[in-house]
Amino acid sequence: MLFQRCINFTIDTLFPIECLGCKKEGEWLCQDCLAKIPIETKEDCFVCKKPSAGGKTCFSCQRNFSLQSVAWLTDYDNALVHRALHIAKYGYVKAVLVALLNSLVPHLSHKFRFFDLDPRAVMFIPVPLHLRRLRDRGFNQAQIVAESFARATNGICVNALTRRRFTIPQVKLDEADRARNIKGVFKCLDQATVADHYVFIVDDVATSGATLNACGEELQKAGARGVFGLVIAKG
Ligand SMILES: [Zn+2]
Ligand SMILES: [Zn+2]
Repeated sequence: MLFQRCINFTIDTLFPIECLGCKKEGEWLCQDCLAKIPIETKEDCFVCKKPSAGGKTCFSCQRNFSLQSVAWLTDYDNALVHRALHIAKYGYVKAVLVALLNSLVPHLSHKFRFFDLDPRAVMFIPVPLHLRRLRDRGFNQAQIVAESFARATNGICVNALTRRRFTIPQVKLDEADRARNIKGVFKCLDQATVADHYVFIVDDVATSGATLNACGEELQKAGARGVFGLVIAKG
C-alpha cells in the first residue's frame, strides 16, 4: 500500500495531471472545460437522422435496425469529448471516463422522459470486450458507462453478452465492413435474466450503429421485451 502510494506520488510528480481541455494542472477535466461540453438536445432517428421524438427508430428504418431507439448525451466530434474518450480507451485512463460521466450523466433523465417503462423491468447491458482486449486495457469502458447509467436511474447493470470471436476494431473499417466484421459476434449468456426485460445496450461511442445492432439482434433472440441503445457520444 505504502509502496503503491510512493509510486503514485513519483508518477504524479514527474507527470503532473493536467486538464485535457485547458492544460490547467490538477485534474484530467476541469469544471470550466466540462461545463463547455455540449449536451445533445436534438432527437433524431439514429439511422436516417430525421427528427424523431425520444430518438425512436423511425418506421422505415426498423427493417434493418434492431433497436427501438438510440439516445446519446453528446457529440463525438467535439474535440474535448473525442480526446477524453480516446485517452480513456487507448491510454487506459479510467479516471478520464469517470470525470466525463460525472458531468454528463445528470442529463440522462431528460433522455428518459419518453420512456414509460416499468423500472423493475429495465436493465443496462454493456457492449462486451473480448477477453484479450479486456486484459490489455484492464477495464471495459462500456461497463463503466453502463454502471454509471444504472446508478443514476436506480437500474441494474448486467453483463449478459459475450464475444464469440476477436474482431478488428470497428474504428479501422468503413461502414459496410463494420457490419460484416461484427455480424454474429455477440452471444447472450443469460437468456433467463434478459427475457421479458427492456434492455439498454450501452457503449461509449456509436458511429455506424453496427455494434449496437448486432447486440440488439442477439438480445431480441434472447426474448427481450424491448431493445434500446444508450451511448455517451455519437460519432
Ligand atoms: Zn480545463
Ligand atoms: Zn429513420
